[in-house]
Amino acid sequence: MQKLQLTTEYTLYDTISELDNQAQELLKIAINAREQAYAPYSNFSVGAAILLDNDEIVIGNNQENAAYPSGMCAERVAVYSAGSKFPKTTILKLAISASSSHKEITQPVAPCGSCRQAISEYEVNQKTPIEIYFMGASGKIIKVDSLKSLLPLSFDKSFL
Ligand SMILES: [Zn+2]
Repeated sequence: MQKLQLTTEYTLYDTISELDNQAQELLKIAINAREQAYAPYSNFSVGAAILLDNDEIVIGNNQENAAYPSGMCAERVAVYSAGSKFPKTTILKLAISASSSHKEITQPVAPCGSCRQAISEYEVNQKTPIEIYFMGASGKIIKVDSLKSLLPLSFDKSFL
């Protein structure tokens, strides 16, 4: 028997201005998308913006539903939109911002488990890492160089 340990690595930025211009721009687009989220039940709005290798930017925001499980997270709205509009392209970067009308979100808000799984599918297929930036409404930003940093020991098509 062996007891092993997994480690993960991320970069923590104090402010958006510390990011390179391209990442700043993408995060600002995610913030704008967040402001258009349809979140009347949770009042928790999330915006996502994806940069593709064809220079297109695809956005998503959370879309809630009176039948709660029928809603969809911003990250999956964005990756599925990118996958449907530009099926042959590679996702380079994903930026995410979350806010709540109940309280100021100052901590980086990471994608939920289902979104990590969905993003993983794209990263595995394209065989190149997706940079992910995420933040709250304000405060620090976390960047991971690959979805693998958020979802180690992941399940993918190689098991099927
Ligand atoms: Zn999610």
